Amino acid sequence: MKKGKVFVISGPSGVGKGTICAELMKKYPDLAATTVSVTTRAPRPGEQEGVQYYYRSDEQFDKMLSDGLFLETVDKFTHRYGTLQSEVEKVLSEGKNVILEIEMIGGANVKKRIPEAVLIFILPPSLEALTGRIKGRGSETEEEIRIRQAQVETEFDQAEPYQYFVVNDDLFEAVERVKDIIVAEGLKDDYRSVKKNFFGRE
Ligand code: 5GP
Repeated sequence: MKKGKVFVISGPSGVGKGTICAELMKKYPDLAATTVSVTTRAPRPGEQEGVQYYYRSDEQFDKMLSDGLFLETVDKFTHRYGTLQSEVEKVLSEGKNVILEIEMIGGANVKKRIPEAVLIFILPPSLEALTGRIKGRGSETEEEIRIRQAQVETEFDQAEPYQYFVVNDDLFEAVERVKDIIVAEGLKDDYRSVKKNFFGRE
């Protein structure tokens, strides 16, 4: 069985990375699986324990951290988030690719821990398009939108370790491009191991 790879999907807030991941899972369920992270933030209306996140207190998070359960963690927007090592291993043991939908600091840390991890950054077609989308969500005030705009540049600066950049202009196209990256990365191999597998010897 060919081993799966770890893919990180990140991008500025409101770029639509969650929708891309959800669509990718729906359209290509055998290609990859996502994991459920731990967070210290409260569930939003409609969110469920073990579906969007495992919701834990700060104390519980600290305990999990000292027990070494996390592949990476980040402090973001006054809350903490962490990718569970066990969730990643579970998917990889099934021979599937793992998709981590996490922010950029976490992405860079995953790359340090797992150098063969593939980092994909989702771009909005323009700054205006991104701001429009955040407004469209209706949950932020004008002031919050201005703050978000300023944050976008910082978020771009964090994208330096990323290898692939996919513009989310059209959802169908963006999903296809992410799928193409995952498929192509799965075909990467080295001559020696291919030969060994083919002939059964070095
Ligand atoms: P939200 O609170 O809106 O669900 O997520 C806020 C941000 O945290 C998003 O950019 C999301 O991708 C990121 N995030 C979610 N889980 C994790 C995680 O386990 N690790 C890291 N580094 N970021 C995460």
